[in-house]
Parts: sequence; structure tokens; C-alpha cells
Amino acid sequence: MSTIEHWIGGSFTAGSGSRRGPVFNPATGEQQHEVVLATRNDVDAAVSAARQAFESWSQASLSKRTKILFNFRELVNARVGEIAELVSDEHGKVLSDAAGEVQRGLEVIEFACGIPELLKGSFTDQASTGVDVFSFREPLGVCAGITPFNFPAMVPMWMHPVAIACGNTFVLKPSERDPSASNYVAGLWREAGLPDGVFNVLHGDKEAVDGLLQHPDVAAVSFVGSTPIARYIHQEGTAAGKRVQALGGAKNHAIILPDADLDFAAQHLVAAAFGSAGERCMAISAAVAVGSAGDTLMDLVSRKAAEIKVGPGRDPRSEMGPVITAAAKERIESLIGTGEKQGAKLLVDGRGLAVKDHENGFFVGPTVIDQVQPSMDVYTEEIFGPVLSTVRADDVDSAIDLLNSNPYGNGTAIFTSSGEAARRFQRGVRVGMIGINVPIPVPMAYYSFGGWKDSLFGDKHIHGPEGVSFYTRGKVVTSRWPHVDHASGASLHFPTAS
Ligand code: NAD
Repeated sequence: MSTIEHWIGGSFTAGSGSRRGPVFNPATGEQQHEVVLATRNDVDAAVSAARQAFESWSQASLSKRTKILFNFRELVNARVGEIAELVSDEHGKVLSDAAGEVQRGLEVIEFACGIPELLKGSFTDQASTGVDVFSFREPLGVCAGITPFNFPAMVPMWMHPVAIACGNTFVLKPSERDPSASNYVAGLWREAGLPDGVFNVLHGDKEAVDGLLQHPDVAAVSFVGSTPIARYIHQEGTAAGKRVQALGGAKNHAIILPDADLDFAAQHLVAAAFGSAGERCMAISAAVAVGSAGDTLMDLVSRKAAEIKVGPGRDPRSEMGPVITAAAKERIESLIGTGEKQGAKLLVDGRGLAVKDHENGFFVGPTVIDQVQPSMDVYTEEIFGPVLSTVRADDVDSAIDLLNSNPYGNGTAIFTSSGEAARRFQRGVRVGMIGINVPIPVPMAYYSFGGWKDSLFGDKHIHGPEGVSFYTRGKVVTSRWPHVDHASGASLHFPTAS
């Protein structure tokens, strides 16, 4: 069993503490590594390495930064397979899905390669007689990223390529459940020519996070994870004077209208609910079947869900892997039981699934629950597992009302052949990312990713233009290079254009 160490200032270190966390292989249920858990001293060491590196990195030319980003892009692209294997072994998701997440992270790196264009300011010639006005943006300093278990490669890549391209240095605190991909990526940054200390990986739990939130040299914190922790990060970070973007949990609804192609809708619903065992913040976990769509849809979805091949992520025949921990499996199975007790109808029951030769793996089978009421726990809780709950609605407006009364607002989708209904939906829902006949509408890297309401604390979405804005602050210069005319003098009046 190997020990996964911090990456600070360009070298591995076990840090100063003795606490360790287990890293499991969810497909076998066995512990495969232990990860060091940072102390406050380790936080200080990582932030201090990043603080020192900021002095020169923030002065590096755009040309130098861009060259390193392009190198990094090439390296990640060449190692998609290796990163995907690390992700699959510690997270459990199937290899093709893990490669897909690396690909989406790669797109953010490609976006960040265009940083000279993205950081261009504006210039106003002759704003007043002989006076020009121009703007530009500067990096913030040390930025911290705190990330969840479910996308151990992609979610950190939403942050560090953009932050570093903008001239910041970065301390990544990945999830302690699947920490290896972050160390691997640190090696690629180094190979790309990034100076030591610009990208650091600090492993740990609450102690590491609190250390970062309270550290006076951390300028900004990007967080992605569950809503209670996102709320906490935003409160603590902003109270300590930091810039914070904290993306939280989700309960993503898909509305299916009777005019939709129901077979198409069912296929996509199943993929969006059970891909990655439902452990995606953009997974569809609530279907809202409108009017006559309900019975046919449930029949199609149940048949397709029951056909999904569940198995270890490394087996190319597997379509869906295990969930992350034994505790997650227990919680998901218990919520399914509660749904049944509270009166919902269990159409496909994934509890108690045994996968041959992997009997101790953390597997839960695809589960479809119908006739769910909004008061039931399976509806109110973010289950974060392979469970699709279906609520019936009479019409599109009541479906939109249901969705809008949910505290989350991350993603949503509608399946319909009516442009009029789709437009009503896109304008009426209080949600950040919307799909029309697209169940998982994750924006491309050159847009920004983020939800509304309890799915995002802070005002900036992540990556894309808002990411660049988050990791920089603006300056506006008003300049005059006058012919010095001593006779005209200066006035005490408030300056106005002349
Ligand atoms: P989590 O909130 O438990 O952990 C996220 C990070 O916070 C981890 O690095 C963890 O070490 C740290 N953390 C955990 N407890 C903490 C505490 N008490 N104090 C300080 N830090 C703490 O989330 P998770 O279980 O790793 O990930 C799943 C959650 O993330 C789901 O709710 C999912 O919806 C959400 N998520 C959201 C998005 C999004 O874009 N909105 C994307 C991915 C995942």
C-alpha cells in the first residue's frame, strides 16, 4: 500500500502530520493507498511556496505563459489514458467515462491557451482632450481550489489552468477519496516547464480546508462540492476577505412532454441518470413526466435501466461502475428503502446487487422510482447515486413551477418537439444550465459553468470568461501626456470631460 504525499514547491513531501486517510478501490472494496492529511504547518508550507513563486510568475510574459500552457495541453492530451486509469481505480467510474472527464478538462486548458486574447483590455482614445483611458487586468496572488471526489481530473482543471494562465499561483486541495490524479497532473505541469511552486497539491480534509480559508496569503478560493460545505466555504472565505466562488450540490430535473420522442427521451434519461453511477452534479435525478408521457416513458426507462451492465470500471464491458464508498452505498440503499416506505413505486430496485468476483465492491444497481411526491426524501435529498425519481405533472407550467420551487438550480433539461414549450421553459426556469433535448447541458469551456440558488454561492461561474474575471482584477488608467502649459493651471472642480 503506497502513501500519497503532498506536492509542494516542486517536490513530494509527507508533511508534518501523522494523520492518514484511506483510499479505496470501490470496485473491490479494498484499501489501495493511504493519503497524507495536511496540518496547519503543511498549509503554511504550500501557501508560502505559492506566495514566493507568485513574485516571478505574475511577471512572466504572456508569451512564456502561453508556451507552457500549450506544452501542458500536449502532455495531458498524450496521457488521457493514464489519467483515466487513475481516476477509474480510485473513483470507480468506467474507463471511457473517466477519459471523457479528462477530455472536458482538456478543453479548459485549450481555452486557457488563448489567454493573451482573453486578457486584452480596452482602450479609449481621446476620452477628453489629450486624455486616453485604458483598462487591463492583473492576477490576484495565491488562489486555492478545493474539489469534490466525483470529477478528480476535470473539476480541478476547471480552475488551475485558468488561474495559472492569468498569472496566479495555485494550491489544489483535491478530494481525499481519489487524490492520485492531482499528483499525476502536477508532474505534467512540471514537465511542461511550469516553475516550481506555481502549482501545488495539498492533500487533506477539513483541517487543510480551514487552514486555506483562514490563511492571510490566500487571495481567492474556488470550491466545488456539496451545498452545506459550499455555503460554509463562502461564509468563511468572504469573512476572511477572500474572493470566493463555491459551487454546490444539485437536484437536476428533466421535463418530458408528451410530444417528445419518448424512446429518444428514455435513452437519454437513462444515460443521464446512471452514467458515472449518478455521481455527477449534472446527473438527472428527477424526471417530471407530463400528462400522457408518464406510463410509456416509465416502461421504456425501466427496461433500459434494467439492461445496464454494472461492473468494475476497468472492465470494458461495464457501462456503470460502483459508488465511491461503503458509506455512500449504505446511504443510497437506505434512501431507496425510505422512498418505498413513503409510498413511491419502486419499478427497478438496485439494492443488494452482487457483481461476480467483486462481491465486496460498493455497487448499487440502477434504480427507478415512480409516483414520487415532492415531500418524499428521495425527492428532497440529493441522493448522488444511480437513482431516478419520477414525479408526474399535469402540464408544462406545473412542471416548471415544481422545478423552480426546488432549492437547487444547477442544470435542467426538457424533452419536447415544441419550440414554443422549449422557449417558455428556457425563459421560465431559475436554473443556470439548460438543455433542450440535451440531458446534460455542461457548457463548453469557452462559456462558464455554474448554477443558481443553492447550487452556487458567490457571483462568478467557473471557467470561461467568468473564470478569467474571477482570477483577475481590473485597473483603469486615465492618462494625459500634455504639452505642459503652465498658464492654464488645474481646477479644484470634479473632473469632467472637456
Ligand atoms: P464534499 O462537499 O463532501 O467535499 C468537497 C470538498 O470539500 C472535498 O475536498 C472535501 O475534502 C472538503 N470538505 C468536506 N467536508 C468538509 C468540511 N466539513 N469542511 C471543510 N471542507 C470539507 O463533496 P463530495 O462528496 O466530494 O462531492 C459530491 C458533491 O459535490 C455533490 O453534492 C455534488 O453535487 C457536488 N458537485 C457539484 C458540482 C457543481 O459544479 N455544482 C460539481 C461536482 C460535484
